[in-house]
Amino acid sequence: MPCHIDTILVLNAGSSSLKFTLYKIQGEQRLANGVVERIASGSANMVYRRGDGPKTEKPVIARNHSDAIQLVCEALTNPETGVIKTLREIDAIGHRILHGAEIFREATLMTEETLSKVRELVPFGPLHMPANIGGIEACQTIFPGVPNVGVFDTAFHQTMPDYASHYAIPEIYYQKYGFRKYGFHGTSHHFITDAAAEFLGKPVDEVNLVTCHLGNGSSLAAIKNGKVLDTTMGLTPLAGVVMGTRSGDIDPAVVLELVRKGMTADEIDNLLNKQSGLLGVGGINSNDMRDIVEHAAAGYHGAQLALQMWAHRIVQYIGAYYTLVGGADAIVLTGGIGENSWQARDLVLSRLACLGVDYDSEANRTLRGPCYLTKPESKTKVMVLPTDEELMIARETYKVVTQGC
Ligand code: AMP
Repeated sequence: MPCHIDTILVLNAGSSSLKFTLYKIQGEQRLANGVVERIASGSANMVYRRGDGPKTEKPVIARNHSDAIQLVCEALTNPETGVIKTLREIDAIGHRILHGAEIFREATLMTEETLSKVRELVPFGPLHMPANIGGIEACQTIFPGVPNVGVFDTAFHQTMPDYASHYAIPEIYYQKYGFRKYGFHGTSHHFITDAAAEFLGKPVDEVNLVTCHLGNGSSLAAIKNGKVLDTTMGLTPLAGVVMGTRSGDIDPAVVLELVRKGMTADEIDNLLNKQSGLLGVGGINSNDMRDIVEHAAAGYHGAQLALQMWAHRIVQYIGAYYTLVGGADAIVLTGGIGENSWQARDLVLSRLACLGVDYDSEANRTLRGPCYLTKPESKTKVMVLPTDEELMIARETYKVVTQGC
């Protein structure tokens, strides 16, 4: 394994998109990033940005993820707009992988053996895992000899004790099918846990936090001494708080009743994952928090209800997780909503005085993260910390590749 690692490519291959970021790892400098969207649709599109420069966008031909990676390579090495001279400058590649089940407790070098174990996990994420695997396979061909590292969205949550991660159904279903809580957004929770410890000036293994990743998909985690004790998502990313289009927690008997009424598994999957949450309740044909806030302020009942349900469920979990960790040093907000929507944050933070949160509503309206939203004397701090999953993947990749150097 090479010990001199300078440039790391991070790939996040979704079902129809490929996000990429190229880093100089010393100094954590982002050289370029972008996305190839609508892969295999016949109308693919590529967004590319060099450093902090302007974004450029153009239509491209991308029949599959391999084509998309080739386009990324061309863009990065383009003599005019690229950032490296040849692909040989790329020392390692980090791949976001949706699900590591119980096999992958941490970022792992992808060899034939480990990759074949990842292939066995496709049933845990039939939409995303094939794309994640396809990305790794394409890189093995395009970058021969360059190490590929898998960074799993579930890995950070693997510290959950069994009493937190198991469902109260007969254990045979866990043993036979692996049904338990795995949790997601692990890379983001990991990043903000490290960042919060640094912000608080405490060693990471001494911090207790409630980390809240609030975006279109949302999850919270209870962090005890820097490790996950519990999290809101489950076997899949459907569980937990109310999300953009996902219901979050519901009584499973609702699903049974829908089956009895004649709906198929795929129809119910679509209903709960794609038609519910802010979109389903708000009734304004949008899952975007900005639209929900705007329509709620204008008096639309559906949007008001959606917003109240969203905040209610988050307050509920913050309270639960604050208790689980035995009192948190801080509640940390991140994700598109957590970082940007002061109105949504206000609905949550104004209800946390009982947890020792002395909330500064003026700071909430005016400041941008990284920042505190509590007064200096607040017993429990609230902070906004922008997440950076790509950077976390680059850090993890570096750690794996330089192990033993
Ligand atoms: P994410 O999935 O993390 O990209 O977050 C997407 C969510 O963040 C959407 O619901 C957006 O409405 C919300 N969001 C993004 N930018 C803003 C903003 N400037 N103000 C309010 N909400 C925002």
